[in-house]
Amino acid sequence: MMTKPGCVYLVGAGPGDIGLVTLKGYTYLQQAEVVLYDRLVNPLLLEYASQQAEFIYCGKMPKKHILRQEAINELLVKHGLEGKNVVRLKGGDPSVFGRVGEEAAALEQAGVPYEIVPGITAGIGAAAYAGVPVTHREHSLSFAVITGHDKSPSGEPLIDWHALANGIDTIAFYMGLGNLPYISEQLISHGRSSDTPVLLIQWGTTGKQRTLQGNLATIVQKAKAAQFKNPAIILVGDVSTLKKGESWFESKPLFSQHLLLGRAGEEPSEMARHLREQGAEVFEFPRMQKKKHLLKKADIPANRDLLFLSPASVDIFFESLQANKIDIRRIQGEFYGISKKTVKAIESYHCFGKEIAERSPDAPPLVILGDPEGFHRKEQRYPFVFEPDFIATHSFIRVQQTEQTFSRLQEEERIETIIFPNARSVKTVTEGFQACGETPENISTYARVICFGEKSKQAAVKAGYAVSEVLSEPTEEALQEVLLQKEAPLVAAALS
Ligand code: SAH
Repeated sequence: MMTKPGCVYLVGAGPGDIGLVTLKGYTYLQQAEVVLYDRLVNPLLLEYASQQAEFIYCGKMPKKHILRQEAINELLVKHGLEGKNVVRLKGGDPSVFGRVGEEAAALEQAGVPYEIVPGITAGIGAAAYAGVPVTHREHSLSFAVITGHDKSPSGEPLIDWHALANGIDTIAFYMGLGNLPYISEQLISHGRSSDTPVLLIQWGTTGKQRTLQGNLATIVQKAKAAQFKNPAIILVGDVSTLKKGESWFESKPLFSQHLLLGRAGEEPSEMARHLREQGAEVFEFPRMQKKKHLLKKADIPANRDLLFLSPASVDIFFESLQANKIDIRRIQGEFYGISKKTVKAIESYHCFGKEIAERSPDAPPLVILGDPEGFHRKEQRYPFVFEPDFIATHSFIRVQQTEQTFSRLQEEERIETIIFPNARSVKTVTEGFQACGETPENISTYARVICFGEKSKQAAVKAGYAVSEVLSEPTEEALQEVLLQKEAPLVAAALS
């Protein structure tokens, strides 16, 4: 699926869980040069966009329009006419109370081509994550999506309440929480029984999902007492009683945990994937990008033994040979890798590689290739007995977009726990925070800090964090154990 330049893709991001975007939407997002996104789009989705993309936040807060619709339309047209590849990312499905019709009309009028990529709408997605299918052969043969708020002066939607109250089994009201008293009154006064079950789902499919059950007579009081707010779906109908206790989603072990997992390299980690599978929302921070430094002809060592510090350094070395039209047979030295993984990378180029431990300490000095950070780290771990020559094949830089993701998550109070898997991540994370105007001291007041071991703890304390937990051993299992006793460490931290 290749995107066309100068085309605007109106993409549904799904209701919250980042896994609920379509394959097509995801592919387009990865290719976009400009991304305009809404408040209800999970900021974590931005982490999957192209590193070079420009991001424009068009979030509308209820009653406080940040970017007016006309301004959004103009931006879409402008970038489209400039020949950019534009993704307009909208919460849920773009056609369900998403104003996609207005955007499409503006694009059409300006002659800008567009495509609509549907998404999972909150009324269906949030209900499913609360354990409720919106239709069911025994409970619900019809389903309607209704706005709970319209542009009339009172905001009370002008709809055919009689038809709705009597003709539809399951009704999902969007944007309706402010009008909940009006909605329940209308349904009752138009003939729906006051004991009709109602389910509220706030921030459905995300780690912030909360639900509340009641009926048309009780739900207003209950919602007030529990301080339910938008974004929430009001699901009216018998089918909502299928939610009994915690849903499949809410009962995942790490459900409702928001983890910021420190990272120092470019690759997404296996650990993040496992934590997500357990129900946590994981933000791998900061997003890093590898910057290659291809070697010039004169810098390529032809007669010395080479030590590669990572698979990436192997790749870049071979790419440099090719770029300089140097045949591998002209390289005389032996190849060593710092790890098994790196030796494998050497072998993938049909060359013979050995682990560095196999090399005799009396052998002549070698040349080391890798990234400077990695070099300093490895230098401490493997005290090379000689003065080595070092060539930087690449370095890691922070992707700027990651700062937007952080700020959006922070605004939504979705930074709860910071995990430092190693000392190096303390450095990259702290630099990332600094770029976002956040300090270790301040973030420690609202997030708990977990370190994998003594080294990362020392680094974190030195940087200014209040460390609440050090794992008994540096493993995922130990981390899970600590995360599962969610409350205890916070209390302990507050008392200390
Ligand atoms: N296009 C979106 C709806 C936008 S209108 C869609 O198809 O889902 C905004 C309203 O959608 C919110 O006020 C709320 O009623 C609902 N909504 C969006 N995301 C939600 C979520 N994660 N949980 C509950 N309701 C949500």
